[in-house]
Amino acid sequence: AALVNQIAAGEVIERPSSVLKELLENSLDAGAKRVSVVVDLTGDGLIRVEDNGSGIMKDDLPLAFLRHATSKISSFDDLVRARSMGFRGEALASIASVARVTLETRHQSDAVGSRLEWVPGEDPLISPWDRPVGTAISVRDLFFNVPVRKKYLRSPQTELGHLTEAFQRVALGFPDVHLELSTPSRKIFSLPARHTPLLRILDLYPTFQEEDLLYHERGGEDLRISLVLLRADRLRKDRQFQHLFVNRRWIRHPALFEAITQGASGRISRDLHPGAWVYLDLPPDRLDVNVHPTKREVRLLDGDRIFSLLRRVISEAFEGFSE
Ligand code: ADP
Ligand code: MG
Repeated sequence: AALVNQIAAGEVIERPSSVLKELLENSLDAGAKRVSVVVDLTGDGLIRVEDNGSGIMKDDLPLAFLRHATSKISSFDDLVRARSMGFRGEALASIASVARVTLETRHQSDAVGSRLEWVPGEDPLISPWDRPVGTAISVRDLFFNVPVRKKYLRSPQTELGHLTEAFQRVALGFPDVHLELSTPSRKIFSLPARHTPLLRILDLYPTFQEEDLLYHERGGEDLRISLVLLRADRLRKDRQFQHLFVNRRWIRHPALFEAITQGASGRISRDLHPGAWVYLDLPPDRLDVNVHPTKREVRLLDGDRIFSLLRRVISEAFEGFSE
């Protein structure tokens, strides 16, 4: 089983930023309203994510690290309806097979929490641990037992860049969650909970002013598109401000980027990419996120309809700027 886990880990866990992405998604799935991240990529490396979510019940704790152990689906029906970001039960098992993991947690129904120390190949140590409701997971020494993968890690600076990017993508999808990112020597982001994505964007990109951005939304029950558009004169050739979220999850979707480009045609010069943060909300049964284990790609069942609506909404939104 250990080997199977290590192989699968290669798919999900490529580098420190993939660990962070998975841990953040688990915190959000657990309903956390506050999540703080500390990373130290010097030396053996540490990624610690602490949340005020549901916590894990004492009896469930050993299960969390088993492959395909997920608390998020219990039937095929649930699988189709899954709203949460994880539901494959792979991330913790994968991380725990290639790093030293400690987890401290308390569920609200437990009077005392627990601490679990996991070293691949050994029996986990579980002991009582006092802490508020929620979970803190520390991942140390990533790939210590997979030297070939460790060799491919870049400089701490480069890896921190990837980590910051992963953090920002989550922050953009969840403006209503208080999020912090720091290293031992500095606070990189401290983002208060916000009511709108526009305010979160201003927190993340302090060089933009409120009048540079425009919020627009359209649609109904089964498909809602909301977006924040960046004023054409704030666009830069060397930077792309374009992000797409489906049910709050950041995704790649070249076809929908094309819809954004088409919707912006005539509004911005051809050599620039339109600046847009686009949020699609649709019923989970209209998409398939299990195309790839990292869930960065989704298949949309009403792709054509979404394409034309998005193109139209982008074009409409630009009109808002000229008033
Ligand atoms: P998945 O998210 O796909 O269910 P994971 O391997 O990411 O699988 O997590 C396994 C299980 O561990 C989750 O289903 C959840 O029950 C539990 N878990 C992990 N992280 C947290 C957390 N921060 N708060 C509460 N429960 C957690
Ligand atoms: Mg998960």
